[in-house]
Amino acid sequence: MARREIFAGNWKMYKTSAEAVKLAKELVSGLEKKPGREYVIFPPFPYIRDVSAECSGTPVKTGAQNIYHEVQGAFTGEVSPLMVKDCGCTFALIGHSERRHIFNETDADVNRKVRAALDAGLEPMVCVGELLEEREGGQTAQVLERQIREGLRGFPAADFAKITIAYEPVWAIGTGKVATPEMADDAHKIIREILKSSAGEAAAEAMPILYGGSVKPDNIEGLYKMENIDGVLVGGASLESPSFLKIINV
Ligand code: PEP
Repeated sequence: MARREIFAGNWKMYKTSAEAVKLAKELVSGLEKKPGREYVIFPPFPYIRDVSAECSGTPVKTGAQNIYHEVQGAFTGEVSPLMVKDCGCTFALIGHSERRHIFNETDADVNRKVRAALDAGLEPMVCVGELLEEREGGQTAQVLERQIREGLRGFPAADFAKITIAYEPVWAIGTGKVATPEMADDAHKIIREILKSSAGEAAAEAMPILYGGSVKPDNIEGLYKMENIDGVLVGGASLESPSFLKIINV
């Protein structure tokens, strides 16, 4: 069965509003739409509306880098899933390693946010991945299992159809240390097995699993060739159109 193939860019906390719109424009005009391939960019919150308007009617969709798990209320400084939906987003990135490790988000937070995203009609892209010491301690499979079981606990199979997983080993994010294609592929196989036991065979087979962690124009081909890698989530190299276009046009 052909799975969805998704190429995504996380702009983190970079760019001015003019730069963000310019980058979106360059991506839209430079991408060579490949059959079946989907494109998503995650701009900072203040630019979501303008970037979504720039991408409207094009193959590029937008997403929020984070959401709160409530729809509205006295939650100063937080952003509701309905607000980002209202500003034109299709996706929500949930549990990015910077959220987990800088802002102490837990698997329980991830679970609440996935529920909130689905309720708002957003597609959750859920990030999982082990720390360097966990990999070196042989705990990668155990960490992935905990993050997926806890993060996606209680969702019916129909919900799994709207969820994407991004495997991002923490030691590879923003460090220039990319996982080898074989390492990434092995982790993706482990993730799919975990998904089978929590979501069932059909839902697990259909779910796209993206790789993220220092993806660059010079390593995309090796990663993209792997059977179990259904796309990529790119940070640093998504911030300039020449490098991101080389990746998404692979
Ligand atoms: C990310 O932000 O999700 C990411 C993978 O960053 P980088 O590509 O810079 O490692």
